[in-house]
Amino acid sequence: MNKTKYIFVTGGVTSSLGKGIIAASLAKLLQARGYKVTIQKFDPYINVDPGTLNPYEHGECYVTEDGAETDLDLGHYERFLNVPSSQANNVTTGRVYQTVIENERKGVYLGKTVQVIPHITDEIKRRMKILGNSGEYDIIITEIGGTVGDIESLPYIESMRQLIWEEGNSNSMVIHLTLIPYLSAAGELKTKPTQHSVKSLLELGVQPDVLVCRTEKPLNAEIKLKLALFCNVENNAVIEARDMATIYEVPMAMLKEKLDKVVLTKLKLKSTTEPNLDNWAKFLFKLEHPKFEVSIALVGKYVELPDAYKSINEAFIHAGASNECEVKVKYIHSELLTEDNASQKLAGFKGILVAPGFGNRGIEGKLVAVKYARENKIPFFGICLGMQCSVIEFARNVVGLKNAHSSEMDSDTTYAVIDLMEEQKKISNYGGTMRLGSYQCDLTKGSHASKAYGKLHISERHRHRYEFNDIYKEQIQKAGMNITGVNPSTGLAEIVEIQDHPWFVGVQFHPELKSTVENPHPLFDGFVQAALKA
Ligand code: GLN
Repeated sequence: MNKTKYIFVTGGVTSSLGKGIIAASLAKLLQARGYKVTIQKFDPYINVDPGTLNPYEHGECYVTEDGAETDLDLGHYERFLNVPSSQANNVTTGRVYQTVIENERKGVYLGKTVQVIPHITDEIKRRMKILGNSGEYDIIITEIGGTVGDIESLPYIESMRQLIWEEGNSNSMVIHLTLIPYLSAAGELKTKPTQHSVKSLLELGVQPDVLVCRTEKPLNAEIKLKLALFCNVENNAVIEARDMATIYEVPMAMLKEKLDKVVLTKLKLKSTTEPNLDNWAKFLFKLEHPKFEVSIALVGKYVELPDAYKSINEAFIHAGASNECEVKVKYIHSELLTEDNASQKLAGFKGILVAPGFGNRGIEGKLVAVKYARENKIPFFGICLGMQCSVIEFARNVVGLKNAHSSEMDSDTTYAVIDLMEEQKKISNYGGTMRLGSYQCDLTKGSHASKAYGKLHISERHRHRYEFNDIYKEQIQKAGMNITGVNPSTGLAEIVEIQDHPWFVGVQFHPELKSTVENPHPLFDGFVQAALKA
């Protein structure tokens, strides 16, 4: 077996340059050449995982098959590569320190003073190599969160330096993502910030091998040469990364710039076969040449920050392309939605999606959106809290259970149609204690869900505490809301549908997390199709 190769991706000059997309695009190109690749992300913050973070901080929390609550970049990795990731793919400073401190309490360090170097860096290196040591991958791409020069990323840069030294020159490399700003007053692209950020890396003992340069204008040969000379990289290792209309064009752009070839040469890997990107190209063509258009209202309370609903947006892009349809998703703030303005705010939409979420803020607006979709027979898709809202609305307005609610929002409600399970009631810690990760679900034959999936047994990922309360099952079903998806081992209701409605589906799980370019999610597909017919 060949030795696993390590590629590190660091960022310079500013944050938000799109390290995740560059890492995912490179991984896609290498995968399309037949290499087994995975991507991992190391985040310098002290939270043990992003599960306890408000979506306004770093956007949505992405959940893996094995129930890890991770950074949203893992979503990009899965959407691009079409291979699931796991807990090992996302590590934070909090998790690293947690392990080291637990070890110290157990006496593992035999009385030594526990320090950042070597104890923290050793733990970071151990985690950097877990997937590499599994023998499943040819190439591990490691994205280091934050910007070079940040105090908190220092231990990661040092661990990377040591790992490169240990693995050897042709087994590891560093790609530095940087910004080349354009000064319109001077009419020039500026290389100095990049030179400085490479200098910062050099001060830490790391020489980048490749510069990927984010830029609004093309980099001419002269600038590329200047960057190569002053940053000490090969001429062909200065890669231009222009702003693209969609993130899905980036792998093609990186292919044109020959990023994959530069990487393979540096790592002494064969580049005989050209990458097979036929499916990707077909998807891109459909995405860029839609024949139809449909507008969907996404009702949620984190609408100021589009990253809060990242995976839902991407799932619409995948399902849209497969239906040759441009899905225009418009965010509707649930706090501003009322019975009085619903018909005006929701007019013209061919589908209504009520988003996942936590807590009471904006809940009544979500219930208004469900009611509007139910009564006006507009295709409806409720995800997690959105599904719970559809049950609450139905219980209140159809079954007649006055003020029915979820005990999350109203712990004294007479009718807790959504409630905590007994096991959850005993839990007091917030971190990592929800129902997380993938669970099986059996579908009812003939339901919208089973028609969309084309099968009767599925598995989907969860992230919630509250559940459909079994006590109300019969009453609710009798009134016309069917439970069409059930967890086979617990009997919990996972999907609800309204019989007398063109397409009304609420799911307790998060289907958006499993939608990829190559496998658009069947329920998003079904919803878009229903919206096209509406
Ligand atoms: N707040 C709800 C729960 O915990 C729904 C969570 C969600 O939408 N992800 O059950």
